Amino acid sequence: MLLDQATPEQLREWESQLSQEYDAIVGKKLNLDVTRGKPSADQLDLSDALDGILDGNYVAANGTDTRNYGGIDGIPEAKRLGSDLMSVPADNILVGGNSSLTLMHQTMLTAYYFGLSGADSAWKNIDAPKVICPVPGYDRHFTVCEQLGIEMVTVPMTATGPDMDAVETLVKSDSRIRGMWCVPKYSNPTGVVYTDETVERIAKLGLIAHADFRVFWDNAYAVHDLVKSPATLASVFDLCNKHGTADSVVQFASTSKITHAGAGVAFVAASTTNLNGLKAFLGACTIGPDKVNQLRHARFLPNRDALMGHMAKHAALLQPRFDAVLSALSSAFDGTDLGNWETPEGGYFVSFDTRPGCAKETVRLAAEAGVKLTPAGATFPYGKDPEDRNIRIAPSVPSVDEVVGAMEVFVTCVKLASVRQALT
Ligand code: PLP
Repeated sequence: MLLDQATPEQLREWESQLSQEYDAIVGKKLNLDVTRGKPSADQLDLSDALDGILDGNYVAANGTDTRNYGGIDGIPEAKRLGSDLMSVPADNILVGGNSSLTLMHQTMLTAYYFGLSGADSAWKNIDAPKVICPVPGYDRHFTVCEQLGIEMVTVPMTATGPDMDAVETLVKSDSRIRGMWCVPKYSNPTGVVYTDETVERIAKLGLIAHADFRVFWDNAYAVHDLVKSPATLASVFDLCNKHGTADSVVQFASTSKITHAGAGVAFVAASTTNLNGLKAFLGACTIGPDKVNQLRHARFLPNRDALMGHMAKHAALLQPRFDAVLSALSSAFDGTDLGNWETPEGGYFVSFDTRPGCAKETVRLAAEAGVKLTPAGATFPYGKDPEDRNIRIAPSVPSVDEVVGAMEVFVTCVKLASVRQALT
């Protein structure tokens, strides 16, 4: 189907055919949900051995009784786990509670109000500090900025990562730019892995940006590969050290989509300056994180091989669901002008761009046919996709059959919304 070359008659014919298909789907009274980027129950089961793993032995390798207060930056075994996960030396890692999003929020709050390198570095010292947001992106990053009243400036995501020409131009030309969000591996939602060149250009931003500029490097999907030989992500830590910009990047990760999503362990990896800035803030919030859970995780995932072996079990469950999404998109849209998508090799999402102005209508039609999709616009700051194109598909929770069913509805709704729009 090439809409741009269709005659009005063809369009009317397609519309009537697709309307019939759509009505037949509505008649099935489906109830499917592809909105949630969270692990399925089968994936959660993979980590149930966490429960009871300590078997009464609560003492960490350095003699710490993990049941007691203290240890603001985490026990050594948990730093080792963070190091296996993030490929950053354990000395540069702080281990927190169950959520990396919390650590991101607390780090941005610290940067904004208190400064990560002393009071003079607080972003609030200037009028209207701004943060660069590659779009489409992760809605909760945008919510953090929105809550703190930090202005967001968007740059397009490309197949190689954020449009770095646009990022460098902004950093050089706008003295209020103080930060940037990044999901460098299997980006939420496009699934792209930043190329080596992109990572190096990001590591070099510290050479041209303001001294208080920080990249928030959210490596949420660091080990979440779906294929055997996935693209690798260059080490932003090593590249920052090479270029003398170690303070310009703060990295985050967690075990949320490795073990139990709501009961995992989260990590920050950063320079000593940034870690000290964050610890000064955290020390006022808590006497210490949940070290018992840190020890559980360290015993459950004792080395990098154990971690990667565990992730292979997740991949075995996730891959058929992603295959179902991607093969439905290929068979419906290859060779058409109805939409574009990336083929992710990991992560939790497939991101689909409709023709401009068709995303909201597609989501509405799907909802009426019993398939819940993430609201159109959610992947943009303030929920506003200026071109109304992007839709995020999250296939991890439904069964493979349910994903197949949801995709039949999805492709019909994309086609119907597109044809109806072309007729107006
Ligand atoms: N970062 C990204 C990019 C995510 O997609 C998610 C969850 O979907 C999170 C962070 C949440 O991480 P956590 O559970 O560690 O707070």
